[in-house]
Amino acid sequence: MRIDLHAHSTASDGTDSPAELIAAAVAAGLDVVALTDHDTVAGHAEAAEAVRGTGLTLVPGAELSCQVEGISMHLLAYLFDPAEPAFAEERELVRTDRFRRGRAIVERCRELGAPISWEQVQRIAGDGSVGRPHIASALVEAGIVPTVSDAFTADWLANGGRADVRKHETDPVTAVRLVRAAGGVPVFAHPGAVKRGRTVSDQVIADLAAAGLAALEVDHLDHDEETRAHLRGLAAELGLLTTGSSDYHGTRKTVRLGEYTTDPAVYEALVAQATGAKPISG
Ligand code: AMP
Ligand code: FE
Ligand code: FE
Ligand code: ZN
Repeated sequence: MRIDLHAHSTASDGTDSPAELIAAAVAAGLDVVALTDHDTVAGHAEAAEAVRGTGLTLVPGAELSCQVEGISMHLLAYLFDPAEPAFAEERELVRTDRFRRGRAIVERCRELGAPISWEQVQRIAGDGSVGRPHIASALVEAGIVPTVSDAFTADWLANGGRADVRKHETDPVTAVRLVRAAGGVPVFAHPGAVKRGRTVSDQVIADLAAAGLAALEVDHLDHDEETRAHLRGLAAELGLLTTGSSDYHGTRKTVRLGEYTTDPAVYEALVAQATGAKPISG
């Protein structure tokens, strides 16, 4: 069984449509893929439709933008009830603020001499939950940087960079509770991704475990061996499961779908905790 529990589509900052993502997951030889767009479930219906007859299992999910002690972090949520109002409202709040903040970042980029426009960013984002990777693509189009990841530097869009503007992000203890109350299973995405900026302390992770966190995403491109070993030890101490996943973004990142995977026993344990939705078998 090959299980990849973290992938993005055009519903947020991935470049494959939900149907294309499902086709890519089949082509990659996966048995299970989770669709985890930033702050939205907009891709679920198309992905569920596309999975029919493929033999692939879809885990509907999302990746919620959180912030604690001034540090941005991401919380994966699997198999929650998308209609549960409190969590749905929080996702909506984050998505709405992404528009205000997207405009503000474009304005900053223009002040810094990059000839991009909000209309261009909207064209790139389509109806997806708009984020910095879309603005990064606009900077690539304008010839300011060679690749999307080159836009994530202090000069432009990195956390605290010249053109970075913060968005509303949920307190993660609140987020863990919201996900559980919606019947979902919360997993801390790439907790040690230092290249993205400061990461949270072990104490914060312990607080999240106490609030109901299920697992840490350990096997991830942005974690070196030492970080993985530390996170595995911490998970064991706190009674958390550990997952692995690609965090696939199509052509906006170099990682391949299925490059990192989750142990089948861990997957079964996560599914067993969910009461909000079931995996969709094609
Ligand atoms: P936002 O959600 O708008 O704050 O943008 C965060 C997203 O930017 C993350 O989910 C990643 O997809 C992307 N990102 C963050 N850091 C990098 C990086 N160093 N290189 C490429 N993409 C990045
Ligand atoms: Fe992303
Ligand atoms: Fe993330
Ligand atoms: Zn992600």
